[in-house]
Amino acid sequence: MAAGDGTGRTAVSAQLLKGQKALVTGANSGIGKATAIALGRAGADVVVNYVAGADAAAEVVATLQGFGVRAYAHEADVSDEDQVVAMVARMVEELSTIDIMVANAGLQRDAPSTEMTLAQWQKVIDVNLTGQFLCAREAAKEFVRRGVVPEVSRSAGKIICMSSVHQIIPWAGHVNYASSKGGVGMLMQTLAQELAPQRIRVNAVAPGAIRTPINTDAWSTPEAEAELLKLIPYRRVGDPDDIANAVVAVASDLLDYVVGTTLYVDGGMTLFPGFATGG
Ligand code: NAD
Repeated sequence: MAAGDGTGRTAVSAQLLKGQKALVTGANSGIGKATAIALGRAGADVVVNYVAGADAAAEVVATLQGFGVRAYAHEADVSDEDQVVAMVARMVEELSTIDIMVANAGLQRDAPSTEMTLAQWQKVIDVNLTGQFLCAREAAKEFVRRGVVPEVSRSAGKIICMSSVHQIIPWAGHVNYASSKGGVGMLMQTLAQELAPQRIRVNAVAPGAIRTPINTDAWSTPEAEAELLKLIPYRRVGDPDDIANAVVAVASDLLDYVVGTTLYVDGGMTLFPGFATGG
């Protein structure tokens, strides 16, 4: 399978994460799937978390095993404390430890704020924010217990929170989602500040518009894509590999001195493109 954009220029070395163990939540679709595959291509063993869609998860596992790394699928709802605790405990049992936690699982339940139900609000906060806290907490416990293993990585562990440009861009009609991602930004920074002395690196990757099932309406017709491109100075809708490659870089020792940062991977969406001609 070709890496990156197929030209070879974006390929990741199979040595970069050799010997590291990664868990990716929501890894049977979109960005999570591409990230799991990119981590495996970089040499990491990977746990493929999913909440629904066992067949799609099994396909990701098969792809990973084709790279010669260890992989298995684990069904768990990231917003359920017991299930997250059990998921990380099983990983420590089966793969001996965890080095990289990618808290990627997320969803939208859109509605104008005056019509948004408490259930819609709560579901998004539970999965997108509380789910990331639970996954980060369980990974951090194991990182602290194990400490740095110099032949594996310079750090004791990496937590990568999947955020969004809506960490900083308000989004009418999506107050639950934007609030969850704003919260992810502060969750990440606070954890980073707290855990850095133990050589744990916590960072966020914040995608712009990426072609995945979460936002099909935004790019699936030429008209919708043309509207979307007005918001992207680089005039390209992103692919899951754009995000996956960023996660691999942040997880690797190449970026060992990057702590508490949000890496926007958005083709310039956060550059306020409306001001290029207005303002
Ligand atoms: P997606 O719908 O393809 O993938 C989301 C994944 O999360 C799916 O595998 C889904 O089953 C899983 N999931 C949902 N609820 C879960 C739960 N309770 N427990 C475990 N897994 C659960 O969408 P995507 O675009 O790949 O989204 C991945 C992440 O990227 C999300 O956090 C999303 O907010 C973020 N993001 C996406 C975009 C984009 O343009 N696609 C932009 C910014 C941020």
